[in-house]
Amino acid sequence: MKTKDLKHKKLPLGLTFSSPCRQTKLEEGVLLSWTKKFKARGVQDTDVVSRLTKAMRRHKDMDVDILALVNDTVGTMMTCAYDDPYCEVGVIIGTGTNACYMEDMSNIDLVEGDEGRMCINTEWGAFGDDGALEDIRTEFDRELDLGSLNPGKQLFEKMISGLYLGELVRLILLKMAKAGLLFGGEKSSALHTKGKIETRHVAAMEKYKEGLANTREILVDLGLEPSEADCIAVQHVCTIVSFRSANLCAAALAAILTRLRENKKVERLRTTVGMDGTLYKIHPQYPKRLHKVVRKLVPSCDVRFLLSESGSTKGAAMVTAVASRVQAQRKQIDRVLALFQLTREQLVDVQAKMRAELEYGLKKKSHGLATVRMLPTYVCGLPDGTEKGKFLALDLGGTNFRVLLVKIRSGRRSVRMYNKIFAIPLEIMQGTGEELFDHIVQCIADFLDYMGLKGASLPLGFTFSFPCRQMSIDKGTLIGWTKGFKATDCEGEDVVDMLREAIKRRNEFDLDIVAVVNDTVGTMMTCGYEDPNCEIGLIAGTGSNMCYMEDMRNIEMVEGGEGKMCINTEWGGFGDNGCIDDIRTRYDTEVDEGSLNPGKQRYEKMTSGMYLGEIVRQILIDLTKQGLLFRGQISERLRTRGIFETKFLSQIESDRLALLQVRRILQQLGLDSTCEDSIVVKEVCGAVSRRAAQLCGAGLAAIVEKRREDQGLEHLRITVGVDGTLYKLHPHFSRILQETVKELAPRCDVTFMLSEDGSGKGAALITAVAKRLQQAQKEN
Ligand code: ADP
Ligand code: MG
Repeated sequence: MKTKDLKHKKLPLGLTFSSPCRQTKLEEGVLLSWTKKFKARGVQDTDVVSRLTKAMRRHKDMDVDILALVNDTVGTMMTCAYDDPYCEVGVIIGTGTNACYMEDMSNIDLVEGDEGRMCINTEWGAFGDDGALEDIRTEFDRELDLGSLNPGKQLFEKMISGLYLGELVRLILLKMAKAGLLFGGEKSSALHTKGKIETRHVAAMEKYKEGLANTREILVDLGLEPSEADCIAVQHVCTIVSFRSANLCAAALAAILTRLRENKKVERLRTTVGMDGTLYKIHPQYPKRLHKVVRKLVPSCDVRFLLSESGSTKGAAMVTAVASRVQAQRKQIDRVLALFQLTREQLVDVQAKMRAELEYGLKKKSHGLATVRMLPTYVCGLPDGTEKGKFLALDLGGTNFRVLLVKIRSGRRSVRMYNKIFAIPLEIMQGTGEELFDHIVQCIADFLDYMGLKGASLPLGFTFSFPCRQMSIDKGTLIGWTKGFKATDCEGEDVVDMLREAIKRRNEFDLDIVAVVNDTVGTMMTCGYEDPNCEIGLIAGTGSNMCYMEDMRNIEMVEGGEGKMCINTEWGGFGDNGCIDDIRTRYDTEVDEGSLNPGKQRYEKMTSGMYLGEIVRQILIDLTKQGLLFRGQISERLRTRGIFETKFLSQIESDRLALLQVRRILQQLGLDSTCEDSIVVKEVCGAVSRRAAQLCGAGLAAIVEKRREDQGLEHLRITVGVDGTLYKLHPHFSRILQETVKELAPRCDVTFMLSEDGSGKGAALITAVAKRLQQAQKEN
């Protein structure tokens, strides 16, 4: 670095390392064992990358970052692949021997994922260490092995590579001399000395034309006096040893090529093998012999052998360059994801702000300004089990409309339900109010027909999951549409009146509308029927909302100080005064601006099913613009609002899903993704849904803590009835939500109870109670 004037320059470094390492990532490798001549102590079983990093830190003026550890075979393959895209094998025949090749991920059990290929460093030098080569190993191989640094190891390598060929020749010559077959039975001390014949000598002796003269010279240098016949014989020994080496290498390579051909399921394989190593390079006949035998062993492959002119380092540098690009991109992606990672402090802050809003909403003075509206519902108690009769219930959610017939039997707390789901078409959600309510009545008529109930005037409870100001249980003025609804002439009107008028317009049947019920309240009631401790209702579906039982004395909006009343918080509007803008991201702003109600329901837009997918889509667009996804190409599909539904988050984040399946989901969405893209998309989904669950948990923590303090309890035990597809079907949402509540409200013991029957059953129960009270009033 000094001579190249590179000191103090921050550079990414690729390390070519040619002893076997176990890698769990590109920039780490635990040395399994030294091979060849290395035997430095205390290195085996440690990560050579961190060892080198540590050593370099001791040099103050060096600033390098090791990004890749590359085996020399891999470096060779990459070097050659730069010039020839067909190159998918790397072979080294030098001091040692080894090979790597591109294996299908689906065949690599050791690594997660089935997509694409990964380069496998075979470490074929150790072939035979289990005894598989005993039938062809000779007494010379055994002798050589016993005198080596690593007896019993690298047995294949010891029959092939440069470090050993000369020695094999020496051992053979020694035995022949001892037997009187060479040099008139004379042996020099040099011939007795380990390592005196090197592989370069073998290469020189086999040289075409000068070979014989070289042989004589080399033998004389060893202190021998060879005859002409001796020289020819020695030359022959060299040929046999190096030929065997080339043959063995060819056989092993043929096995790899056959595998490649089978993996690709092709008749003929066209491929290139990147070659390196001094033995292969300097031995005059070695390459030719190797090529010829490989072609003979795998006639179904058209193999090109490409010599790596610049060794394995160019390839290592290229692997490092790619890693360096990936690392830079990773940092950019992490910066975006970090916007969605809330600290504990931030969550505590959200909890405190929610708590403050709840209090504002309850007070006469501040009620008008509160973003959390805290609407009294005139539902004052849980069912007591004496309710009975047949009821109709309607459930207008954010996406579907359900009509139910609910039969309640008293005493046994058992309920039978029949229901039908109707879709509300978009043009009706956003058409006129009359059209909407006519459609609703049409659905009711269909249901009554279907149940054979036409003409029966049943009491009806209407679950209506939009904010309504109520003055009694059967009156509810719509404050404003949320979620996907925008029908005209409804805001400011009483929804019960609108429903009654629509029934009148149709003039086919009559219904006794007894109660209008928010879906959170219906959910709380449904669960409360089984668990009297259930005093909170939570919805995490298309939208997000919560209700709870509040002490009457705290509700300044309603006369009376006795008992409790259920408050529909409408917490979806939390933050509409800007109080949580510090944690809103530019993606949230984008989603808000593209919504039906810009500036409204800011908390809901960060936490509920209608919006999570859109947030993800906005992030994906941005990452693509930054060139970090989908090859920088923003497709028409990605530009389409709503294509990324929240159900895809659930699918993509499912733990059981392999990367390949994630990719398939994205492909179905028209997003042509690579394997890396799929990983990023999954991370984005995770960040968005995690934040949603945490925010929802912070809100819930605010309410349970309030209830605990209001009642002056050390510990509060309370049940939350929950409904909503996001909560029910997302693989992690419910768990993270619960964890957050536990963390932020440690003195509350909160049980979550899934409302299996939706909010319709609750609406019917409320109707039953109201009906009973109505009748009691009449009788009085
Ligand atoms: P609603 O809230 O409209 O009464 P749901 O509770 O069924 O009805 O919620 C429907 C919403 O749930 C859809 O708008 C969609 O955003 C979301 N959703 C649908 N399928 C899934 C899923 N598999 N995982 C997570 N969310 C989903
Ligand atoms: Mg619902």
